[in-house]
Amino acid sequence: MKAHPQIAGYKDTGLLNIHGYLEETKVNGPGIRALVVTQGCHHGCKNCQNPETWDLNIIGESISAFDLAKRILSNPKHEGVTYSGGEPFLQAKGLSEVSRIIREEKGLTTVCYSGYTYNELTGNSPPPYADLLLKQIDLLIDGRYVDGLKTNEFGAGIFRGSSNQKLWWLNPSFALKQKKFDTNKCEIHIKPSGEIIFTGFGGDTINY
Ligand code: SF4
Repeated sequence: MKAHPQIAGYKDTGLLNIHGYLEETKVNGPGIRALVVTQGCHHGCKNCQNPETWDLNIIGESISAFDLAKRILSNPKHEGVTYSGGEPFLQAKGLSEVSRIIREEKGLTTVCYSGYTYNELTGNSPPPYADLLLKQIDLLIDGRYVDGLKTNEFGAGIFRGSSNQKLWWLNPSFALKQKKFDTNKCEIHIKPSGEIIFTGFGGDTINY
């Protein structure tokens, strides 16, 4: 059986620890997607856009994989989920379960960001349960954010913060269904509570 060593400082409680959740985003992967922002990241990229997600000891929302999957499935517009962070691969086991459930129930797809590179995730010392989550991912966007390689100009890149990051279409049939994308975009969401959320990447702003 494959060994799954724990990451220093990360406590697996059996529940997912999420920093934020958004419905119906169109800028964090192809189509209309739920966005799950995970809590906890140890990569320390300079000028990270979400440093508030770094702390491994902060508990955002504690939720079971089953309940998170139910929430994503409850919106009929969702074509899939995107995991961002934070570092989603710190919670690979639980997220793999969410993705498995939504795929089995409604054929929803999974896009995942990671500060790890694909080679790190598939190499000799991957984070725990990386193999389980990789099996569920249709599109992986990998690598640390490198501020000097920021991609906010027209045509500079899609769905990524810096040009070193690479899109890995792990499910070829998902890749074939996608239209061509020309530039990064960002969105502004106003929640019922009045909270204003910016999401996506530099470039155009989508207007609803
Ligand atoms: S991997 Fe992402 S969340 Fe983590 S420090 Fe880098 S940019 Fe920030």
